[in-house]
Amino acid sequence: MSQLKYCQGPKCHTYDTKDRKRGPKDNKRNETRRRSSFYYLDGNACSMQCQGDWFNVYGSRALQHFGYITEPRVLTRDNAWVNRRDWRAEGNDRYYAYNHLTEERIPLTEDQYNNDDTIINDQGQLTTREFYTPTI
Ligand SMILES: [Zn+2]
Repeated sequence: MSQLKYCQGPKCHTYDTKDRKRGPKDNKRNETRRRSSFYYLDGNACSMQCQGDWFNVYGSRALQHFGYITEPRVLTRDNAWVNRRDWRAEGNDRYYAYNHLTEERIPLTEDQYNNDDTIINDQGQLTTREFYTPTI
């Protein structure tokens, strides 16, 4: 069983819902939600509202901690690669690496497409042009 954790929204306890209510009749209180998993804030907030509350309080501090960008990030022909799938195509044309800027297409096998980090890294750069063709 996974461990329960609290919603990290700083105002979670202030939203008045039945599931946040705790305590006996004469000493009612609302508590922060506690669950085994959450959908928002990368698994740390119970709702979009709590995610937004967290960001309003801590977002700029997070930027100060991790650093603001001070120059624009740039997309060039070298990091403009993505894997694409053409649902209408048949056979060898179905999967391909595609360059946003040059519109170049490189055919991929289904295996290569499904293991896209072996062909295109998380920076959008082609890691190799020598694609292997798996043998059966
Ligand atoms: Zn919450």
